[in-house]
Amino acid sequence: MPKFAIKIAVTFVVLAGMQCATLSQVNLLSTQEEVELGRQFSQEIEAELTMYDDPVVNAYIDSLGQLLVAHSERTDIEYHIKVVDTDEVNAFAIPGGWLYVNRGLISVAESESELTAVMGHEIGHIVGRHSARQISGQYGLSIIAQVALGQDPGMLRQMVTGLLAQGAMMKYSRDMEREADRYGIEENYRAGIDPSGMQEFFKKLRALEGGGGTSDIEKFFSTHPPTQERIDDSARMVASLPKKPNLTVDTPRFQQIKNRLPARASGS
Ligand SMILES: [Zn+2]
Repeated sequence: MPKFAIKIAVTFVVLAGMQCATLSQVNLLSTQEEVELGRQFSQEIEAELTMYDDPVVNAYIDSLGQLLVAHSERTDIEYHIKVVDTDEVNAFAIPGGWLYVNRGLISVAESESELTAVMGHEIGHIVGRHSARQISGQYGLSIIAQVALGQDPGMLRQMVTGLLAQGAMMKYSRDMEREADRYGIEENYRAGIDPSGMQEFFKKLRALEGGGGTSDIEKFFSTHPPTQERIDDSARMVASLPKKPNLTVDTPRFQQIKNRLPARASGS
């Protein structure tokens, strides 16, 4: 019976899909392999992108990131936090502890807690080993192991090209995004920073978008979709934390750093 055959085929596809989804949740890379993979990726990415070389801005971003890392749930690896010289509003993490913050993100954030909200979210992806899991699921462990050992430069280039084409972001599942939001909120809160920066940032970006936002901002929306569900979820997470006095919203240092940056080419 063709109908039955179709049903079996559909069931098989659904099961195969579920199996893939389940596999991609399982991260079989060791920490050492993950770090080696990240090292290979970072070399390729930093050769591909223009890095922002102001040492004052880099030192500031690194110190902010290391503060969040110190309050994170993953301190078994070294974190490398760097600034990319682009107006594009974004930040991204790759496996093994490398985090890239775009100059455009620092310019558009209006307070330090908005910036650390996004950085905390990206560190959350490293804590949850999300990109390592996604990449293992996508390419398979034997290919990953070769790339991590530097034995397959062609495949490495292909992976990095794919990553950069997606706006330098892995395609994460909604569960991973939610988990990264939670890690980010907790890191900020424990570090003494107001964790509602993410909601504030999303609200501002939405307003900018409404006023004819630039493509630099659209990129951020496509890689960090500020769905109402996500904003509500993170607001609930923040509200569930015990009240803590004197959480930092902004610092004079952040404003000084912003003033060092060139004006964004596309305004806003
Ligand atoms: Zn994310």
